[in-house]
Amino acid sequence: GVRPLIAGNWKMHGLRADALPLAREVAGGAAGLAAELLVCPPFTLVAAVAEALAGTAVAVGGQDCHAAARGAHTGDVAAPMLRDAGATYVILGHSERRQAYGEGGAGLRAKVEAAIAAGLTPILCVGESESQRLAGEAEAVVSAQLAEALPEGFAAAGGVVAYEPVWAIGTGRTPTEADIAAIHGAMRAQLVRDFPAGGPQGGGTTRLLYGGSVKPGNAAAILALPDVDGALVGGASLVAADFLAIARAA
Ligand code: 13P
Repeated sequence: GVRPLIAGNWKMHGLRADALPLAREVAGGAAGLAAELLVCPPFTLVAAVAEALAGTAVAVGGQDCHAAARGAHTGDVAAPMLRDAGATYVILGHSERRQAYGEGGAGLRAKVEAAIAAGLTPILCVGESESQRLAGEAEAVVSAQLAEALPEGFAAAGGVVAYEPVWAIGTGRTPTEADIAAIHGAMRAQLVRDFPAGGPQGGGTTRLLYGGSVKPGNAAAILALPDVDGALVGGASLVAADFLAIARAA
């Protein structure tokens, strides 16, 4: 099967004094793991963390990028800049950015395309709100979010999808194992339909991460589910021992 990916989304946390030791501690426990490890610090720390992790088994990613490669976009960061700073991944379409900045649709797809063009691996986040879940719309919402944001060539570029139900983020609540498996199975079917090539070029091998209150105590059960190829970890990724415990569960 595919190599699982355990990704830490540090969100808007981290100053040099604590972030660099955290990165080094993660790297110290990363050698020889079955899973690939990734940390995604805030923009200000991408270069420093990438330097601290050079030559280790831990990759570095950004948390967003602009759709343009350069230009008059004050305050934004372009995908080639992330690549230049040492990142190899970028998280796109996180629900916190969908909520705060109205991300989604063709604009989000353009960011995914920009990431691929810059040589970054995009991690496209999707997931339903609590009211959508209660209305029985979770699968339809996720399917529509994928349909609007997946560009041609996504699977061949090694793109990653993260299913993060909004109501499970930072709440300590998670869907049932059956509910996670159902969404991941539906996402897999859609990816295979959209990217029918066999092998690493196709949607059958696209890594599908689960995110939302992943902790050392629930990681093994979640990561054992069919079509769950890793995790996108928020809060627990800020504690090296917890992040590594999750990584060892993969
Ligand atoms: P938590 O692990 O803190 O629930 O956050 C999940 C998340 O949003 C990762 O992108």
